[in-house]
Amino acid sequence: MPAMQPESRIYVAGHRGLVGGAILRRLHAEGYTNVITRGSRDLDLRDQAAVRAFFAAEQPEFVFLAAAKVGGILANSTYPAQFLYDNMMIAANVINAAHEHGVTKLLNLGSSCIYPRLAPQPLKEDYLLTGPLEDTNRAYAVAKIAAIELCDSYRTQYGSDFISGMPTNLYGPGDNFDLKGSHVLPALLRKMVDAKEAGAKTVEVWGSGTPLREFLYVDDLADACVFLMEQVSEPGPINIGTGTDLTIRDLAHEIADVVGFTGDLAFDASKPDGTPRKLMDVSRLAGLGWTARTTLRDGLEKTYAWYLANREQALAAR
Ligand code: GDP
Repeated sequence: MPAMQPESRIYVAGHRGLVGGAILRRLHAEGYTNVITRGSRDLDLRDQAAVRAFFAAEQPEFVFLAAAKVGGILANSTYPAQFLYDNMMIAANVINAAHEHGVTKLLNLGSSCIYPRLAPQPLKEDYLLTGPLEDTNRAYAVAKIAAIELCDSYRTQYGSDFISGMPTNLYGPGDNFDLKGSHVLPALLRKMVDAKEAGAKTVEVWGSGTPLREFLYVDDLADACVFLMEQVSEPGPINIGTGTDLTIRDLAHEIADVVGFTGDLAFDASKPDGTPRKLMDVSRLAGLGWTARTTLRDGLEKTYAWYLANREQALAAR
């Protein structure tokens, strides 16, 4: 199987997002000169004809499929139709076009929410499709499961080298800081910065604070993606995470410490907790030779510094 070369034609789908942006930074830093990107205004990945025409014109050899409709617990529960439709269409169009145009290798990215809500912890890849999904993100999860199945089916039927990486909850530079659409980490970081600046005494934290979540710094994810693209050719999901988690309450305290917010936390029980825990078992990826490097503290400090330096961009409508 030919590996990526400095001149390879590499398409990063979703380069304006948290994940695609980190992959793009990484590829540029490593000296890849033919990285292809398109914004969603120039190429609607839900449009099959447009995706076909794009692949015919650009002939990418390697594809990082990081384009997706994503959001936190509230956005997922409010717009399930968009999370299901957009993500199914994006996956079907890009994966099929990659097949039709002879792409050498494709990395499809999903999420830890593909696993059953009450699966044993930590989550092994084998637990896929062994039980009911978490309600608050079932639509998104079904689309992501279908994308894994697509990659595996093209591998079985056509021998396509399409693989699937399943990252845990991610954070870092380029994240979505919109309070209604974002995930917990950027939301709490923004709320604490605002509270500190305004001299407010409390910050609201959704839910009970007891759910456990695992957080991976997005530059570590980009590192894992390049590793997978270069070294791994296997069907099925491959978990990408740190292998450790903490409660939302502890996360909130850690963020408060980094930001220097000294007020109180107010837990809002009217907001959903979501799944109680979704810790990744990362032994498969560790066995292949990759482990995460950035500690939560380091990652939070870097993300906080990025947010302060890029606040306008971070808060701009997406
Ligand atoms: P999830 O991992 O899919 O559940 O997505 P989130 O990152 O949106 O939420 C993770 C957990 O953090 C849930 O238990 C939320 O209720 C909790 N949480 C606490 N405060 C916030 C907040 O301000 N925004 C979000 N999105 N979640 C919050």
